Amino acid sequence: MQDLSPIAATHREPLLKVRGLSTHFTTVSGTVQAVDGVDFEIGHGEVVGLVGESGSGKTMVGFSILGLIDPPGRIAAGKVVFEGNDLVGLPERELRGLRGRRISMVFQDPLTTLSPTMRIGRQMTNVIAAHQAMPMADARQHCRDLLGKLGIPSPDERMHAYPHQLSGGMRQRVCIAMAMLNRPSLIIADEPTTALDVTTQAQILGEVRKLREETGTSFIWVTHDLAVVSELADRLLVMYAGQIVEQGSVETILNRPLHPYTKGLLDSIPTNNPDAKRLPQIPGSAPPPGIGIEGCKFRPRCGFATDTCLDKPDLKILEGTRAVRCFHPQYDVEHPLTEAMS
Ligand code: SF4
Repeated sequence: MQDLSPIAATHREPLLKVRGLSTHFTTVSGTVQAVDGVDFEIGHGEVVGLVGESGSGKTMVGFSILGLIDPPGRIAAGKVVFEGNDLVGLPERELRGLRGRRISMVFQDPLTTLSPTMRIGRQMTNVIAAHQAMPMADARQHCRDLLGKLGIPSPDERMHAYPHQLSGGMRQRVCIAMAMLNRPSLIIADEPTTALDVTTQAQILGEVRKLREETGTSFIWVTHDLAVVSELADRLLVMYAGQIVEQGSVETILNRPLHPYTKGLLDSIPTNNPDAKRLPQIPGSAPPPGIGIEGCKFRPRCGFATDTCLDKPDLKILEGTRAVRCFHPQYDVEHPLTEAMS
């Protein structure tokens, strides 16, 4: 298989290599293919946005990487090679040593991530103590420093607070700080700013961007919001019905989307243009889990479908990191980045 990552050019091994990842769930009505043969790579220090509608399988990719799929789910096929080791099939004890240390996850709802009965400082130092021996005074200082870098005022005071005493934005900053405490190589952030107002979202993205430059941590930023992730990511992977349908640099995808689904996502971003017509929507909805569709999974919603699309399209690599899963890529479509995001 051709290398999809820009780091191939530097001959440096990628941090994460996902190959043919398929995650299935057994239900009374049959097998649900939540993730269906996903391939991608993440370079050292790279931020990759994993975008798509709800139910496209983005979160399941994150859970599969971390080995967090419980029965009736299972990883049916594929490899997740992280720092040279395949994580699929690794004993739970070894996975636990990696989680929170080498790979961390930030979830959408900090209230369910944080314990309501424990002060923030205690929860944070527990994360350090689970993976490394550090004197308590140093650990607390490390927590304070990280909270400060993530824009939390008076970090010392906040360390004494319980989660309910903080605002939603502060709680999410705490969760991001907790994910970074043990300096992992990779953070999987699952819609971490979706529930926040746009101002707080923008602040958090700015702080994460600065921290990423400082620490070199790689991110997989899972979101349905193309506009938000474009502020942060180097590269985008667009998912639909458990498959990656398009990938490339942020700039290329925003300016020249090739897959009809990506184009539909971009068209549905509100703009400030007073002459803009009614906001278009992608017709129909994503197929419910377990519903089999002949050929291309986007076919029932696609305005460009032909009989050829009754076959299954492969993810075709065009050049470098650019790839698309479509028999009729929309080469003639210009989608100016500045107009869409202004
Ligand atoms: S393969 Fe066909 S149905 Fe699928 S996205 Fe491309 S044009 Fe549409």
